[in-house]
Amino acid sequence: MQTLSARWIFPIDAPPLERGTITIDADKIVAVEPNGTRTPDVDLGNAAILPGFVNAHTHLDLSGARGLLPPSPLRGRGAGGEGAEQPDFTQWLRKVIAFRRTRTPEQVQADIGAGLAECLRFGTTLIGDIAGGGASRELLANAPCRSVAFYELLGLSEERSQQSLQSERDWLAVHPFRTRCVPGRSPHAPYSVRAEVYSVLGNRWLPVATHLAETKEELALLRSHTGPFVEFLKELNVWDPSGLVADPLEVLRMLPRGIFVHCNYLDSATPFTAEQTVVVCPRTHAAFGHPRHPFPEFLKRGVRVALGTDSLASNPNLDILAEARHLRQHYPEVEPATLLRMLTLSGAEALLSAVATGSLTLGKSANLVVLPLPKDDRSDPHDLVLASTLAVSDVMFRGEWTSEPVPEFS
Ligand SMILES: [Zn+2]
Repeated sequence: MQTLSARWIFPIDAPPLERGTITIDADKIVAVEPNGTRTPDVDLGNAAILPGFVNAHTHLDLSGARGLLPPSPLRGRGAGGEGAEQPDFTQWLRKVIAFRRTRTPEQVQADIGAGLAECLRFGTTLIGDIAGGGASRELLANAPCRSVAFYELLGLSEERSQQSLQSERDWLAVHPFRTRCVPGRSPHAPYSVRAEVYSVLGNRWLPVATHLAETKEELALLRSHTGPFVEFLKELNVWDPSGLVADPLEVLRMLPRGIFVHCNYLDSATPFTAEQTVVVCPRTHAAFGHPRHPFPEFLKRGVRVALGTDSLASNPNLDILAEARHLRQHYPEVEPATLLRMLTLSGAEALLSAVATGSLTLGKSANLVVLPLPKDDRSDPHDLVLASTLAVSDVMFRGEWTSEPVPEFS
């Protein structure tokens, strides 16, 4: 048994405790108490103790693409008009596909390993990762973190979508549920997956995640079968408008417990249920120059919102705390306490893991990070975490320190 103290402890499901203590017995949290209740064994000084962070959306198999596929400006589009400055999304997708075709299975495994190590060093102790063929499952299952290994499904035509569902069932049969690594399913996006796939997957009790409403071109494709996605899908020889949903809301209805990634172009009044989650990927959202994200309005309506880094094909690193700090800077109206919840407990709820992790709560797994704090006084202690650039110094998973030095990526 050991008791730790620090300048601030952030349980997340309760107010922060100044110079409070957290007591760990083997792999579990057995007490979280205010200052003066218990004498600490270790005082971590001017630091915060937070729950291990949750990266609810990434693609570790693209970790070899860091810096190689920056979103580039639109081709041949004149100045002016909404979105004229936005990078060309389908052109970026072409580059991602071309990159994937250059990677051998061995390189993909090495990329997943490198991305995973980076996530862990940045204090992530729960990861939702999507990989082609569920390729990240073995590495995730053996890593010092909890995870959901999402199997990605693709296929707009009847034939391809049935093949994809069959492959996913075969994969699931040989990769059963493990306590620390749960299998999930990820129908890629409404422009690449047949409507029926969503309805089949929505009926089963495993985490399910999909990209949704990432671009306005996606909405044009679904609503009127127009825009750059038509040419893109024809080029890939997968154009089949009979497989498209007519509106993103149909996807919401078919995945009643779904995780919806991006949602950049959904109306702020979109009717999510209490069991659904929106995952925002702030720095990827910024890299593509999308207009202001509606998540503050979602939050006001009680919608659960979590954070993801997305992949290194669109993000400079896998630092999930940097995503929360980005939001603190660009959406100052959102309470900093809410941002820390999005970074931790909301992600754990989305990945169906909140019983075990996501907050510093009695009985939960001792998954936590130590974050050095700046030497100043702010009225809101959450801002000591979010308005700083200091990096996580130590990580504990199930009661054991696992941390290595944080890598120096810009
Ligand atoms: Zn993604």
